[in-house]
Amino acid sequence: MAEPLPPTRPRIPGSGLAKGLAVTLRTMTRKTVTEQYPDAQPELPPRTRGVIGLFEENCTVCMLCARECPDWCIYIDSHKETVPAATPGGRDRSRNVLDRFAIDFSLCMYCGICIEVCPFDALFWSPEFEYSETDIRDLTHERDKLREWMWTVPAPPALDPGAEEPKELAAARKTADKLAAQQEADRATEPHADEQARAAEQPTRPAGDSKQQTDQPRPEQEGRE
Ligand code: SF4
Ligand code: SF4
Repeated sequence: MAEPLPPTRPRIPGSGLAKGLAVTLRTMTRKTVTEQYPDAQPELPPRTRGVIGLFEENCTVCMLCARECPDWCIYIDSHKETVPAATPGGRDRSRNVLDRFAIDFSLCMYCGICIEVCPFDALFWSPEFEYSETDIRDLTHERDKLREWMWTVPAPPALDPGAEEPKELAAARKTADKLAAQQEADRATEPHADEQARAAEQPTRPAGDSKQQTDQPRPEQEGRE
């Protein structure tokens, strides 16, 4: 035998309208969270994954990023080049030269694996996200475009006070100091090089150019004045 239904409360006419108005009033007094994009640019967190930038000079064409990409959307072409031995009697070396580096952002799922696995710090996240296209083929960014994104990559956050300096920074500082010392030594061995360079840079007045003389008031002009 079916259970009897619980008794329903009698409906007050207009209660639904009052509830709706109460919700409207509550929402009106809350702080708005809507961002007026594109008139106002959003404030993005520093580690935003917008687009990937390529720092080509660091890329050794090791292919690790292309192999690890779960979407297979990184395209790399390269060829081998022979570098002659630096010292007489030494052996020639071969190195990979990058011909093509492209990422298809219509396939990319922004997992960041390529950036994580790159052993030479050649890939970076940029927070730029305004690169939508009407043609899907234009979402494949070739190496020149990927390089341009590098200019939008934010600087790394500052180290904590007392933190050990990263090895890369220490090595870069050592190289810069060595270069500065070398330049200083070069300048010391050529004491007059600066003067010679300055003299060479000064424009020589062509013969017959008497601008300075003509700028000076002539005797008869002086008399009139
Ligand atoms: S972010 Fe992920 S999906 Fe996109 S290119 Fe890198 S590895 Fe591939
Ligand atoms: S993992 Fe890094 S170094 Fe290797 S091919 Fe990719 S970007 Fe270049």
